[in-house]
Amino acid sequence: MAINKEAYQIISKELQANHVTLVAVSKTKPAEAVQELYDLGQRDFGENYVQELVDKEAVLPKDLRWHFIGHLQSNKVKYIAPFVHLIHGVDSLNLLKEINKQAAKNGRVIDCLLQIHIAQEETKFGFDEKELSELTGLNELKNVRIIGLMGMASFSDDMQKVRSEFKKLNSIFHDLRSQIPNLQILSMGMSADYKVAIEEGSTMVRIGSLLFGARV
Ligand SMILES: *Cc1c(COP(=O)(O)O)cnc(C)c1O
Repeated sequence: MAINKEAYQIISKELQANHVTLVAVSKTKPAEAVQELYDLGQRDFGENYVQELVDKEAVLPKDLRWHFIGHLQSNKVKYIAPFVHLIHGVDSLNLLKEINKQAAKNGRVIDCLLQIHIAQEETKFGFDEKELSELTGLNELKNVRIIGLMGMASFSDDMQKVRSEFKKLNSIFHDLRSQIPNLQILSMGMSADYKVAIEEGSTMVRIGSLLFGARV
């Protein structure tokens, strides 16, 4: 169950050359595997499940930056609010308000990405363009900072389709930048499609299986 060091070196170099941040997605993988990658210099890690994240955070180095990339339920925000570095999947105003509340309790400002629904599949969470344009009152939430967008393309071998979905997200990102000046992160791209994502303007990719091996 060793990590793929060679893949890590190659991908890190490739991303650095493109000024893209790597979030190593360690969901379902043991803390030892995270530590191995940490020892090679990796600091940004992504998790999908609150309990798993809390358990790993407790035993791993404190300078590690934890990204929550899964679907976050409002009633679980409190468990990660003390330490989470960036929440990628904010898909409702109610969730954002809860993050704001829990951040305030911890005396923190938590950075968030709004998740945008770009895939044609029905199953993916996120705002659509219309809902995004109707979002108001964000400025009143003093303990959250929206610093970018996140999206997942269709799970498909059709790279033209995937590319067009990334293009769409990038164009929403650029439009929204005129309204939200803090916007700087575009989180898109996973193991299967990160190269296309970078070509289409990604600034942060979330890669799991290429680094840690396939999940069961
Ligand atoms: C699991 C997951 C990833 C990583 O997927 P890989 O295909 O293993 O690279 C990226 N983003 C999200 C939101 C995920 O849930």
